[in-house]
Amino acid sequence: MFVGHYAIAFVLIFLFPQVPVWVPLVGVSFPDLLWGALVLLGREEVSVSRDSPLQKSIVFKKYPYSHSLVLTGGISIVAGGLLSVVLGSLVALLVFVLASSSHWLLDTVVHLADLPVLGFDGDRKVGLGLWKWGRVAFLTELTLFILFAVVFVRMSELLPVIAVGVLFHGINANSFLGLSSKNPFGSPKTYAGVALLGFGAMSAILLVVL
Ligand SMILES: [Zn+2]
Repeated sequence: MFVGHYAIAFVLIFLFPQVPVWVPLVGVSFPDLLWGALVLLGREEVSVSRDSPLQKSIVFKKYPYSHSLVLTGGISIVAGGLLSVVLGSLVALLVFVLASSSHWLLDTVVHLADLPVLGFDGDRKVGLGLWKWGRVAFLTELTLFILFAVVFVRMSELLPVIAVGVLFHGINANSFLGLSSKNPFGSPKTYAGVALLGFGAMSAILLVVL
């Protein structure tokens, strides 16, 4: 999931106006930023099919640090703790951990059953697999983003926020709808780099808008 994660950032920005906006924005993207970095460093593993651009064809072989409920939760508490020291705000820790945990929960809706619960060997893996139905997943994620933006984003910022969401979701459309016959990001490291770039760019643009 990509733009859908930011729906939860809108809720947290609304509920905790005293925390800088970048904390929830980075928080909801944190697992995928960590994932991109760890795949590039060879610490987590993914395999990308060259013959299909679809999300459901991507095999997330090993990503316990970035995408498990418990281990990633622990890592986000440490990261959020450091943040809260720098910002001098305990609420920032709460917001960061809520944001980061929401990422795993939303990912369980779309991922095939590959998300580890604990993050250790012999673990249980979960995922409802909405990605198997590409068009439904595409519309669900866009609806989630727009609905939460309408409810939680200030009127004056709503249109640019929706425009950013539609733009980035549109860029990601091929992974739901299979518009090309090949995967343009046919290697794990390219795919991880693109994910880093996508989350980094969208967070940065929303930071300017919000
Ligand atoms: Zn993710």
